[in-house]
Amino acid sequence: MQELPELDIYRTFIAEQFVGGQITGIEISNTKIFQATDEQIERDVIGKVVWFVERRGFYLVMHLDNGKRLLLHLGQGAYLYSGSEADKPSRTAQLKLIFGETVLYGVGLRADDLQLLTVKGIEEKLGKFGPDALDKRLTLDRFIGQFAKKRGAIKTALMDQNVITGIGAVYSDEICFAASVRPDAKIPMFENETWERLYEAMHSVLKEAISHGGAGEHAYSAEDDLTGKHRDQFQVYDREGQVCQNCGTIIEKIDVSNRKAFVCSNCQKDQ
Ligand SMILES: [Zn+2]
Repeated sequence: MQELPELDIYRTFIAEQFVGGQITGIEISNTKIFQATDEQIERDVIGKVVWFVERRGFYLVMHLDNGKRLLLHLGQGAYLYSGSEADKPSRTAQLKLIFGETVLYGVGLRADDLQLLTVKGIEEKLGKFGPDALDKRLTLDRFIGQFAKKRGAIKTALMDQNVITGIGAVYSDEICFAASVRPDAKIPMFENETWERLYEAMHSVLKEAISHGGAGEHAYSAEDDLTGKHRDQFQVYDREGQVCQNCGTIIEKIDVSNRKAFVCSNCQKDQ
């Protein structure tokens, strides 16, 4: 799983390691993963310096010194690893982004997971999505407004990238727990106070996960002892049959719009 916290941790690692670094080569196992032509790669990628790395929702964006952007998406099961040719990931990497002696490996990538885009191209692709969950411009009022047309369960809406980006199956459950709201609670039932709790919980849950290293299953490098440390901190996610650490009630697994969700029926209510 790679949701906002896991991608934010990658962003920090990549920025620390590669900002100011020059891309000396790129290797792709399958041309579907990165559909740029050889000519485009030679002209717009090789020899270019990474100026800045940002995370937008579920995407990482590398800003190159020629104004172009490399947009990287990590789907289910995909991960990144930074090492040398000798110190490479155990699974086959579909992408090798080479910075001299150091290689950024992409494992488990699928079609179009890496794209070379202009600034306009990035906006066309990502502008249609809702605001990033940790965007400073996402005030409480705007947060509530994003859900104005939603009538269903809060978990489903939290995971809808047209509403807010960066939250998936895992952190939507954790946010609902922290806000004392059931994941299957219906949005029209909510009062302002419910939204305030959800807004607060979204920030605290995501920021805490980032500070603990997220829940990623693969280390970013041989030196990385941070990634995945948050996995033991989950309050409800994947804890079916275990006791709620807040009240001792058994955590249940329920179905919310054909997705599993985890809930403490004592701590979490309909509003
Ligand atoms: Zn509880």
